Amino acid sequence: MDKQRRKLLFRLQDSHTSVMPWLKTESEFYDLCSRCNACMNACETHIIELNQFSYPVINFKKGQGECTFCYACANACELPLFLPQHERPWLQVAQINANCLSLRQVECRSCNDVCDEQAIKFLPQVGGHQIFLQQDKCTGCGACINTCPVEAISVVKVQHYFQEENHGF
Ligand code: SF4
Ligand code: SF4
Ligand code: SF4
Repeated sequence: MDKQRRKLLFRLQDSHTSVMPWLKTESEFYDLCSRCNACMNACETHIIELNQFSYPVINFKKGQGECTFCYACANACELPLFLPQHERPWLQVAQINANCLSLRQVECRSCNDVCDEQAIKFLPQVGGHQIFLQQDKCTGCGACINTCPVEAISVVKVQHYFQEENHGF
């Protein structure tokens, strides 16, 4: 694949989409993926869709809006594009922006209610609560993104996790 096209593919992600979990490398994925759709059909939460070039991507606003890390997508793929399941699925975490109701003194705990990892914390402050994300606990599963009523949560790539032992992978 030529460099220009690959650059475009890398830029296609928006705030609620992500690359597939357990990819060995994004470059190899875009070079080798045959776009057979097997992973998309295998996903138990129906969060995989095709981007404009027909490559599978994760959309946390689709289906049940959450990756359960079931590994069915990787198992369904006939190509050697995915890391083993015991490896970390991806380097990404949730990010909360200034639209958050809690930062505007409006009571909301929707994201916290769906986070199995209890990665989202609220600290009392004058007039309301300060919300913050514990990156070391966030698995990037995306469950909080779809549940936020004001689209205040996105998914972002990180270089590394802060406390690797906390992820359970
Ligand atoms: S690991 Fe499971 S839930 Fe996550 S994208 Fe793959 S098939 Fe879907
Ligand atoms: S669900 Fe959204 S608005 Fe509500 S506390 Fe979480 S980030 Fe804020
Ligand atoms: S992405 Fe998943 S683990 Fe991270 S804060 Fe949201 S619900 Fe919790």
